[in-house]
Amino acid sequence: MKKSILPLTMSLIIGLAAAAPSLAAGGNGGQNQRIQTPTLTAEDSYELTYMREEEKLARDVYLGLSDYWYARSGNLPVVTVMQNIAQAEQRHMDQVEAKLEQYGLPDPVLDENQLGGFVNPELAALYNELLTRGQKSPLDALLVGGLIEEVDIQDLQEAIQKTQLTDLDRMYESLLCGSRNHLRAFASQVASTQGSYVAQVLPQAEVNAITQSPHERCGRR
Ligand code: ZN
Ligand code: ZN
Repeated sequence: MKKSILPLTMSLIIGLAAAAPSLAAGGNGGQNQRIQTPTLTAEDSYELTYMREEEKLARDVYLGLSDYWYARSGNLPVVTVMQNIAQAEQRHMDQVEAKLEQYGLPDPVLDENQLGGFVNPELAALYNELLTRGQKSPLDALLVGGLIEEVDIQDLQEAIQKTQLTDLDRMYESLLCGSRNHLRAFASQVASTQGSYVAQVLPQAEVNAITQSPHERCGRR
């Protein structure tokens, strides 16, 4: 009886060995999956997380300042422009949130409805500073809008340069396109108030190239 167990054990071992190639094939399958949903570098993760809050900073400042100026002076151009752009920033926030979710990263935004709430202390301080600055005058509010968009453009260009992932590239390009349109809107309002828009962060030539080119569709029909 014992002797008959041995061949059985042997055949089990052989069976396992025969299964090995299919295990290896399973390994290849896993590799293919990793190519489809790549692992983010630490830098990619940081940029993506930061971008989620940076889009929120834009939305929150525009909501805060449009409310402030509407309460004091009614429907000024700055109120209408900021209300419209805040909606676009909400869509930008949603786009980044979807990417965070796709890559299994935690969302730094704990409560979307809490205006001015940020995990990143620099963004929290910036929110207060920009809100205060934009309350000085409607023109200051428009300049704050221009500043936010110039910084966004700079940060998005940097993120595009750093990442190797085409899906992140594509999303950043779409946010960048939106930021160029927002900068056009703020700069044209500033120009109609004081004659011209002076670049605040980016080179003046780059800002001019954006403001002198037409509004873009940004992938929307
Ligand atoms: Zn944006
Ligand atoms: Zn924007």
